[in-house]
Amino acid sequence: MPRPLEALVHLDALQHNLTRARACAPDAQVWAVVKANAYGHGLVRAFEGLRAADGFALLDIAEARKLRELDWRGPILLLEGVFDARDLESCSRLGLWHVVHCEQQIDWLAQHKTEWPHRVFLKMNTGMNRLGFTPQAFRNAWLRLSALPQVDEVSFITHFSDADSDKGIAQQADIFLTHTADLSGERSLCNSAATLRHAHDPKVRGDWVRPGVMLYGASPDYPEHDAAHWQLRPAMTLRSRLIGLQHLQAGDTVGYGSRFTAEQAMRIGVVACGYADGYPRHAPTGTPVLVDGQRTRIVGRVSMDMVTVDLSALPQAQIGTEVTLWGQGPHGSLLSIDEVALHAGTIGYELMCALSQRVPVLTVGDDHGAHGTAPAFAP
Ligand SMILES: *Cc1c(COP(=O)(O)O)cnc(C)c1O
Repeated sequence: MPRPLEALVHLDALQHNLTRARACAPDAQVWAVVKANAYGHGLVRAFEGLRAADGFALLDIAEARKLRELDWRGPILLLEGVFDARDLESCSRLGLWHVVHCEQQIDWLAQHKTEWPHRVFLKMNTGMNRLGFTPQAFRNAWLRLSALPQVDEVSFITHFSDADSDKGIAQQADIFLTHTADLSGERSLCNSAATLRHAHDPKVRGDWVRPGVMLYGASPDYPEHDAAHWQLRPAMTLRSRLIGLQHLQAGDTVGYGSRFTAEQAMRIGVVACGYADGYPRHAPTGTPVLVDGQRTRIVGRVSMDMVTVDLSALPQAQIGTEVTLWGQGPHGSLLSIDEVALHAGTIGYELMCALSQRVPVLTVGDDHGAHGTAPAFAP
């Protein structure tokens, strides 16, 4: 029998979450952001669940090629644009749209030989200060691009630094909209947080929204709002089983560094999942976990292949009992990846992206599948 750890990717949850993004941005087109191997879900798998999107946005030409091999004929956007002049040949061949965020990328385009002019998204740096032209340099970049025979249509894009918090997007949105006001072309502003919190404003919504993490069922502004608040469903479940039990006496300790000491006699369970699987090593005692769908906590240090859990309130738990590290558990239970992440001092994004290679992944649910019907663990 293989080690009893597996991840599930729920296609019905991906479909549902995409529908949520559409509902938040009516009339806008939706880029499904599938960078980082679809936030750890697997590009091919995520594509199955998200094929109703209007386009796919990612970073790597190799991933774009994979989507074309899956027969995706619609738009694909390279969010960071090309990394050298030769990438433009792949863009021409694969029909990729690409962001243009610096003068160098315009120089490369100007020297590119192609029969197929490119659709580009000119990026404005409105305050994030990572990629993009300053508002002052933007018009000149637009003039240069528009004059190139290699360029077909120019659209406009910016990225918010604070869409998930009180600081908000007003200032950045204002800069972007003001400096593109007299330019004709499509606009894209919103990531997940902005799609959920701000896309009710048609100006902010623009022509394309770019949700990522919400499609995978995590909340971009947790703990202010959880995924349930936004009506999102977890698209990834990480589950395993108890492979060992220990009876502790008061004063006994658990695991490396003896970081947990039993205050009274108690039973603990050993779960086949550790940091080599992508479970965060920094998750402290108290991080929630589901055992047979019931909430309890991890105790002691997370080790490479194992984590230990408190079974005090779970007398029926035994070797083989199902454990949900995050996602959809048995009996309709749920454990938010955002909540686990918060305990570990990180965000749901990082946990899903860090799912390790050695964890087998199963795709479950489809167009017709009922919600929340993860198959039972193989016996
Ligand atoms: C990653 C990314 C997104 C999606 O962000 P989420 O917070 O996951 O929704 C949108 N736009 C750009 C430019 C990105 O790099």
